[in-house]
Amino acid sequence: MDHFDYRAGYLAAENVPIRRIAETVGTPVYVYSTATLERHFRVFAAAVADLGALVCYAVKANGNLAVVRALARLGAGADVVSGGELQTALVAGVPAERIVFSGVGKSEEELAAAISAGVMQINVESEPELRLLNQVALAMGCRAPAAIRVNPDVDAHTHEKISTGLSENKFGIDWTAAPRLYARAAAMPGIRLNGVAVHIGSQLTCVEPFREAFHRVRDLVAMLRADGHSIDTLDLGGGLGIPYGNEDGPLPSPVDYAAAIRHALADLRCQLILEPGRLLVGNAGVLVTRVLYVKEGTARTFVIVDAAMNDLMRPALYDAFHHIVPERQPACGVVPRVVDVVGPICETSDTFAAERPLPPVVAGDLLVIRTAGAYGASMASSYNARPLAAEVMVSGDAFAVVRERETVADLLARQHLPPWFEWPTPATPAATPVAKSATSGADAQP
Ligand SMILES: *Cc1c(COP(=O)(O)O)cnc(C)c1O
Repeated sequence: MDHFDYRAGYLAAENVPIRRIAETVGTPVYVYSTATLERHFRVFAAAVADLGALVCYAVKANGNLAVVRALARLGAGADVVSGGELQTALVAGVPAERIVFSGVGKSEEELAAAISAGVMQINVESEPELRLLNQVALAMGCRAPAAIRVNPDVDAHTHEKISTGLSENKFGIDWTAAPRLYARAAAMPGIRLNGVAVHIGSQLTCVEPFREAFHRVRDLVAMLRADGHSIDTLDLGGGLGIPYGNEDGPLPSPVDYAAAIRHALADLRCQLILEPGRLLVGNAGVLVTRVLYVKEGTARTFVIVDAAMNDLMRPALYDAFHHIVPERQPACGVVPRVVDVVGPICETSDTFAAERPLPPVVAGDLLVIRTAGAYGASMASSYNARPLAAEVMVSGDAFAVVRERETVADLLARQHLPPWFEWPTPATPAATPVAKSATSGADAQP
């Protein structure tokens, strides 16, 4: 459930007409609903409440400070995968003792930053990382709290680019090799290893792979305990799927997911850590874009919009489906046209929807790409020298810009000519007229 509904014929985010945001801030623009974010967190937290699990929001799904803050206010911890996300979580007010640091390639600086921040746990993904963490901790005169991320070798039955739990994936340590590594870690004075972590993939649309992975974790914990290791935290990762609109059947609910955890692991008396990302923020965000042209091709009709794959990469990267709806509610009985919704980028993969029935639109209309709150803004780039889109948060009747639209001047400001090239006279980047033209969205700024 979300809080994006038609009100008197126009789509609104909570009580704010999307149109008002587009007119004030320009397009493309991401719009987040606070009420939806909060609802998703509460539903998930309630489902896992009796497990006593710590819910650590996976910041990589959406690292906007306001989004992280909204969840931190409700008691969420954070799962971070870089030094940048660690800082984001701390700035957003997530207490360090509720932060888990994951990721397959943490640098020495990132490990040191995590230790000095006092994070709850560092999930180690290889033996060389374990040795480095030991050294870094010893140099700082402390013991790093760590868990080993194991790869349970289960098929998550999701898109291959977001599967992480197969032995052919780069993530974690083969679960059969894990006992050896726990034994090595036990001899490292800079490591306090007392947990097991898994994360098998993202956008899982059935519970079965979770069940399989959790049972492997259960077996592993039994083995490790028999070897004399004390295992008291289990980090079960994230990955629960959400409806984008093209699924075959109903998706598992947080209650189903909690039941699988309870069945496999509740009697192990471990502190559980859960890392939902997409589930908390996906449906809480939309991407608002304006139609630039409707181009009648010989084979297809193209609706060319001012958002592109640099703003929302999921369709290009994962063949992902997103519902697209007109901002103006279509009249009853209107006959849809089958169109391709595409962005302006010079790539064929810059396509948000192919052969999609859509109510007829004309240039200037607004379209809303639904379920764009997760892995949307956080994956955006400035490909084609397109400045990053603005992000807006809504709460009730109010809205606020929570990330300003980037400008072309911002893009140029960090670039330099080497000293052996003179600037073309008389322009310098700051004075170049190109810095003003930006995208049509920027033109619409007040
Ligand atoms: C990406 C990721 C998550 C979140 O995954 P979702 O599918 O967004 O829930 C959780 N844990 C780890 C280690 C991750 O890499």
